[in-house]
Amino acid sequence: MFGFQCSIFKYSVKGGLKNIIMRARTFRTWLEYLQASGRLAVVDKRVSLKYEIAAVAKKLDGQKAVYFTQVEDYSTPVVSGICSTRQQFAEALETDQFELIPKFIQAVSAPLPCRLVKKKDAPVKENVILKDIDLMKTLPIPIHHEKDSGHYITAGLFIVRDPVTRKQNVSIHRLQVSGKDRLGILILPRHTFHLYKQAEEAGKPLECAIVIGVDPITLLASQASTPFGVDELEISGALRGEPLEVVRCETVDIDVPAHAEIVLEGKILPQVREPEGPFGEFPQYYGPRSDKEVVQITAITHRDNPIYYTIVPAGYEHLLLGGIPREASLFQSVRQTVPSVKAVHMSLGGTCRYHAIISIKKRNEGEAKNAILAAFANSFDIKHVVVVDEEVDVFNMEEVEWAVATRFQADRDLIVI
Ligand code: MN
Repeated sequence: MFGFQCSIFKYSVKGGLKNIIMRARTFRTWLEYLQASGRLAVVDKRVSLKYEIAAVAKKLDGQKAVYFTQVEDYSTPVVSGICSTRQQFAEALETDQFELIPKFIQAVSAPLPCRLVKKKDAPVKENVILKDIDLMKTLPIPIHHEKDSGHYITAGLFIVRDPVTRKQNVSIHRLQVSGKDRLGILILPRHTFHLYKQAEEAGKPLECAIVIGVDPITLLASQASTPFGVDELEISGALRGEPLEVVRCETVDIDVPAHAEIVLEGKILPQVREPEGPFGEFPQYYGPRSDKEVVQITAITHRDNPIYYTIVPAGYEHLLLGGIPREASLFQSVRQTVPSVKAVHMSLGGTCRYHAIISIKKRNEGEAKNAILAAFANSFDIKHVVVVDEEVDVFNMEEVEWAVATRFQADRDLIVI
């Protein structure tokens, strides 16, 4: 299984780089790092787009990333699970599990503007497709679950620009392949939704770019909880300690990471809705089918020998990507009320959204209650909150259960809202 050819990952370093090469500089350097540390499984056996990629990736979830060299008749390999543990995200940020959240909070508070590079210095421009666009012909886009309505792009950084401030916004949306050059998109009512509605009300499409295969730092930064108007790519720059290199798209006024594997350019059409879903989502339940917005693709650019990246829904990678930035936001909310908060954890069993464990150094009676209320106020997703003393390791769920078993009496200590 490990007859892996390093030559695939020979990448050219363009533009003035510093001597220190971070392991998570690009998608490829990160794969090299995983391979060097025995955490990249290579599957040379031919696999189907339908369910097989998801099945193998799930089998290795939390242990290894998987690199599929032969996906049906595609020449493009598929990778999944590039960060499926909290430890791996910490390694990508060159820190440890305990410093991960403080480092993320620091970056969110001090974004670093991107550096625009020339097209000739951007590997993602090595191939530019402007005509006869056919998504399924070009890219090995999998079907992950039995009842999914079709092929889904699950790991595309979706970038749009605010026409007034010119600030970009980055988020990840599920994208159903609805035609040769059409994608159905689920847009929850957050930043992308606001910018789309604004364009639609003016009768205009909203330009967008979908970026597949970026370094894990930029991937995590895309999920930051920020006020409207903050460019998540600038948070990536802050986490990296140097500006992220971006390049202008061919057919839209959007800047994308220059070292990405693949970029789709397009626009969300105004006043158009088409069926999308069902789709197996993060809590291991399907999201329903309904009429949703449509993205028309206008260009595809990609590196030579691109690598396609997919996130298997409800896998650890998916959950942690949502969870770590949520923890950063939760930590800040709790700290405003209980300054002695030590750590917060949104556990995998709670899908990294529904359960929060908070440790505090208790100085006054009632602080635990305040921490609980602050957590509920932070996110409507949170259903259960457990507050423990500072010596309990919130990341060790056995220790947390021990604290509940020995220190908690429901008739006295439970707060129901
Ligand atoms: Mn945003």
